[in-house]
Amino acid sequence: MFDIVGHMKYEVVIGLEIHARINTLTKLFCRCDNNTFNQDPNTHVCGICMGFPGMLPVLNREAVQKGIKAGLALGCTIKEFSKFDRKNYFYPDLPKGYQISQYDQPISENGKITITKTDGTVKAIGITRLHLEDDAGKLTHTGDGTLVDFNRSGSPLMEIVSEPDMRTVEEASLYARQIQKIVRYINASDADMEKGQMRFDLNISLRPEGQKEFGIRAEIKNLNSFRSLEKAAEYEINRQTELLDRGEKVIQETRGWDDVKEVTISQRSF
Ligand code: ADP
Ligand code: MG
Ligand code: ZN
Repeated sequence: MFDIVGHMKYEVVIGLEIHARINTLTKLFCRCDNNTFNQDPNTHVCGICMGFPGMLPVLNREAVQKGIKAGLALGCTIKEFSKFDRKNYFYPDLPKGYQISQYDQPISENGKITITKTDGTVKAIGITRLHLEDDAGKLTHTGDGTLVDFNRSGSPLMEIVSEPDMRTVEEASLYARQIQKIVRYINASDADMEKGQMRFDLNISLRPEGQKEFGIRAEIKNLNSFRSLEKAAEYEINRQTELLDRGEKVIQETRGWDDVKEVTISQRSF
């Protein structure tokens, strides 16, 4: 299948992972103030959210309630049993050495939302799951060294994982905007992208038109605006098209987005 200029025609497949900060009064496992925007560094911290030894996390009821509300608003089934799991990382902004997330028993799963495209057609996008997890601190690199601020550490996030149901950049963008509207409407998240309250991981692959199996995907992490989501998707479609046209393979990897150069960059491939 080739188009008039001789390119193989590909279908785009997109799935999004969206992180939204839950707008609770306190953090996910401690009583520190969760509203830390523009506060002095390390002024909203305690032994729990800084991962000191011997500290016992206590789950925030409001975070669970808002997570459940969001799950329901996304048409998900709320699980009667749900648990947290450790995800190990070794970073200076994560002193406890692991993120508290949910792996095999998330609070909610199997939802869907609809988007309305500019031509008026309505399309359903499946939601695989919505789970809760805590955020890490923030590193600032300076000429003299790296500064770390733990105000954000332990802040509650909901991660909303979509099915790979989107087929165009427009659909991905509409889906992301619809999620923002929904979590705002139910007051589960302020989802203000300029304040870092919502960010996207874009999973994107191409497959020859007519092929059933999905192609190999790249994951572009931490997109912090609708514009960068759209630009990164467009860039990846071109990059992957060129690779496939040359008979090369897309490798499954994590890539970052350079907002200035407007390119994606390989970060790791495991
Ligand atoms: P991981 O745990 O490695 O992030 P998941 O299987 O949970 O992987 O998928 C993460 C996201 O990637 C989901 O939103 C899913 O819809 C999407 N996805 C999975 N496979 C593909 C693919 N081949 N092309 C595009 N998106 C995909
Ligand atoms: Mg992922
Ligand atoms: Zn704390």
